[in-house]
Amino acid sequence: MSYDRTISIFEDASALEEDYQPDEILGREEEQKAIQRVFQSIIDAEPPGNVFLYGLSGLGKTATTHYELHELVDSAKQYDDINVNLIWQNCDEHKSSYQVAIALANQLLPENNQLPSNGLPASEIYKTLFNELDNLSTDDPSVRDYVIIVLDEADNIGTHDRLLYQIPRARANGKLEDIWPSLVGISNDLSFRESLQPKVKSSLCETEITFPEYEAEELQDIAKHRAEIAFKDGTVEDGAIKLAAAYGAKEEGDARHTLDLLRNAGQIAKTEDTDKLAEKHIEQAQLELERDRIHDTITSMGAHEHLTLAALAVAHINNKTPIPRSDLYDMYKQYAVDILAEVNASRRIHDYLSNFHMLGLINKHEVNEGIGDDTRFEYSLDTVTPKVIHEALTKLEISTTGEPINPVPKDLSMYATNN
Ligand code: ADP
Ligand code: MG
Repeated sequence: MSYDRTISIFEDASALEEDYQPDEILGREEEQKAIQRVFQSIIDAEPPGNVFLYGLSGLGKTATTHYELHELVDSAKQYDDINVNLIWQNCDEHKSSYQVAIALANQLLPENNQLPSNGLPASEIYKTLFNELDNLSTDDPSVRDYVIIVLDEADNIGTHDRLLYQIPRARANGKLEDIWPSLVGISNDLSFRESLQPKVKSSLCETEITFPEYEAEELQDIAKHRAEIAFKDGTVEDGAIKLAAAYGAKEEGDARHTLDLLRNAGQIAKTEDTDKLAEKHIEQAQLELERDRIHDTITSMGAHEHLTLAALAVAHINNKTPIPRSDLYDMYKQYAVDILAEVNASRRIHDYLSNFHMLGLINKHEVNEGIGDDTRFEYSLDTVTPKVIHEALTKLEISTTGEPINPVPKDLSMYATNN
């Protein structure tokens, strides 16, 4: 038999997944109170407010809002004269108000009567949306009907922000008759607020809640609480929790990073067939996450950037780093001629190198030769490895003649097969 059951330290691994909603929010008392203040008016059967929440990614905006709004819906159930509906829309893949309005309407429309993603005039989309929203009301004159619309990651709609104005004003503008709308906008992008039209700002941003970075101790509490659900009793060492929290704190107080570390470290511990999650597993998970991030950064770049990195990788393999820029350019030029049949100017390569340096992928060394006041620069690899560069290159699809071309310089593919 080739399989034996491994020792799993996981009790419920789903508690570390992205879509898991915690049953308890830790360290966000002020933000929770601020949200409650906005929605108290609904419990009191008064006109509702709108709110705009922002802060960097991983600071608990989604989790806290989700928690508080479900508390609100539950609390509202004890009063017969209010009816509270909640619609949650992630704008991740919707780049304009038009697209978000379609997605919202489609949440409310039956399966067999969905709006197409393009072609219809905006006026018709909005009419359908507001009609469906009105349909959520109870039609009972003794009941006040509310609909809370959450637009999460709303910064994706950019300056196409019409919806952010339309929803809060829908009642005043006669678009909604039977129901009171309330808009909750959530943004990861701190500059999004500044880019909004003034009329959007004045209606949506009645109340603003900023989520600050988590401190390491807060991340420890969050990690500890989640680990208790995710892992079996006594399997997670205190040091591991502390380290995961410390790395999260370094990443601008990012709770997501801390929890990702726990999940990946748990997987690593599992492959080792051990019954303890220790600091060394967190260390390794951190290295892997870092490597994935570098990989993503590189794959999002263009072919000439790849070849510039390839040149540096080959120089590294041949012990020629730190390498002067002119030598590196010669190597790049050779690859570019062979592979792309097109060469960028030295100036462009310089820009790429500055950018790689800024991203922490490579090192830049200043060489002072003492002749005149010319400073020369030499380069070497930093966090990026020949292996990662090789991986990214093999995924490039290049074709100048119709035939696919192998974009990997020979030295690099030889190195990759031997290492
Ligand atoms: P944001 O929406 O700000 O990017 P999330 O709310 O998605 O961040 O939080 C990232 C991860 O951290 C999620 O798994 C979430 O459940 C968890 N999390 C964040 N803040 C808290 C908190 N205060 N208490 C418990 N879990 C939290
Ligand atoms: Mg979020």
